[in-house]
Amino acid sequence: MARIPFVCGNWKMHKTAAEAVALVNELRDGVGEAAGRVQVAVAPPFTALHAVKQAIGGTRIELAAQDVHWEAQGAFTGEISAAMLADAGCTHGIVGHSERRQLFGETDETVRKKVGALLGAGIRPIVCVGETLGEREANRTLEVVERQVRGGLAGLSAEVLAGITVAYEPVWAIGTGKTATSAQAQEVHAAIRKLLRELGGSVADQIRIQYGGSVKPENARELMSQPDVDGALVGGASLKAKDFIAIVKGA
Ligand code: PGA
Repeated sequence: MARIPFVCGNWKMHKTAAEAVALVNELRDGVGEAAGRVQVAVAPPFTALHAVKQAIGGTRIELAAQDVHWEAQGAFTGEISAAMLADAGCTHGIVGHSERRQLFGETDETVRKKVGALLGAGIRPIVCVGETLGEREANRTLEVVERQVRGGLAGLSAEVLAGITVAYEPVWAIGTGKTATSAQAQEVHAAIRKLLRELGGSVADQIRIQYGGSVKPENARELMSQPDVDGALVGGASLKAKDFIAIVKGA
């Protein structure tokens, strides 16, 4: 079954609201040319969501959040709920990014709760998984990724799974300039697809699995031409309009 490639820019802790709007304005035409063939989203920081929502009006660019809290509301200073993200116009939400796992104590259990909160608010989760360099060198890649996929998606029905995106992001490739080879990516993506088939049956064929980790215009096309690589989660290169557009066009 043909899956529409999905490319999402993860802006991390970059861009004021004004800078974010300027970037969207630069993306507008280039992304428009790939419209219909590729699904495109950007994930600005929380403080720029509202401004970016206004700026993407009339374009095919969709809005994603970088994180969410799982509680609906209450005394959780500094946190943002899924309903607040929906209210700000987010249709997608990244959860389980390795920076959240490594720097902010994210676990498979909190990923699962966040996935549930997003789905409850009608937002589609992008669930990030990936091994560290040590885990890869110890030959534990597939075991770690399997634990993260199972942990993050536990208890979801096949119908719900169909709307989820998984992002495979080897931690050693994020922000390092080292990219997984297309063969390394395909191997893990195929393993994730097999696992998704176990969890959700034939809907596994509909689920997009993005690759992330130093995706650039020079390597994007080759990575995304692999049979189980259905797009990209792009960090650094998504901050430059020219590079992000080139990646979108390569999908
Ligand atoms: P990178 O980040 O493209 O800068 O490696 C990817 C990500 O962390 O999502």
